[in-house]
Amino acid sequence: MVETSTRTEPSPNPTAGSATALFLDRDGVLIEEVEYLARPRQVRLIPGAAAAVRRAHDAGWKVVVVSNQSGVARGLFPESALSEIHRVIASELLAEAGAVIDAFYYCPHHPTEGIGPYRIECDCRKPKPGMLLRAAAELGIDPSKSWMVGDRLTDLQAGAATGCRTILVRTGYGSGTGIAGPDADLNLVAVVPSIVEAVDFARLNSLPPAR
Ligand SMILES: [Mg+2]
Repeated sequence: MVETSTRTEPSPNPTAGSATALFLDRDGVLIEEVEYLARPRQVRLIPGAAAAVRRAHDAGWKVVVVSNQSGVARGLFPESALSEIHRVIASELLAEAGAVIDAFYYCPHHPTEGIGPYRIECDCRKPKPGMLLRAAAELGIDPSKSWMVGDRLTDLQAGAATGCRTILVRTGYGSGTGIAGPDADLNLVAVVPSIVEAVDFARLNSLPPAR
């Protein structure tokens, strides 16, 4: 498992990859939404999430978490707390279904809140696509074959800006988005109850056409 914070400079040598990725927002998609989740004991996997991640990985896809964590910029918790939370998520996924996350990317910044180096106008805070573009370059991902699953408009915007198809889940903040169905501007192809159906949809729609 690679855990990485995004930097603000462009990724070196972005090359066109060939892998399919399942990009996942973290809070409200993979785990239950808790505002500014700061402690590992607050981690609760969304029901069925572990098996869904396992199915995606078994399809040969990279499973990549891309998460805004401005609680760092706001001084609510240190980056070390994020590392511990990600370790707990990884171990629970493994224990429940033998599921593996290939990489966790997070944005610790905020443009106007907090102090010090985290208070910047970065290129990684969703809706900007910096985390996804960096993952694509580093992990050899083809965005046009890949999927972004999120519970907020900003997740879909980041996925669309990267060139991925996007799926909205109704867990987390997903029931309050006001988005009812497919939307070409967001590359939004499905609105589903949870990550479980999102992975099913993505797998079904990634199959080669029948002869
Ligand atoms: Mg979320």
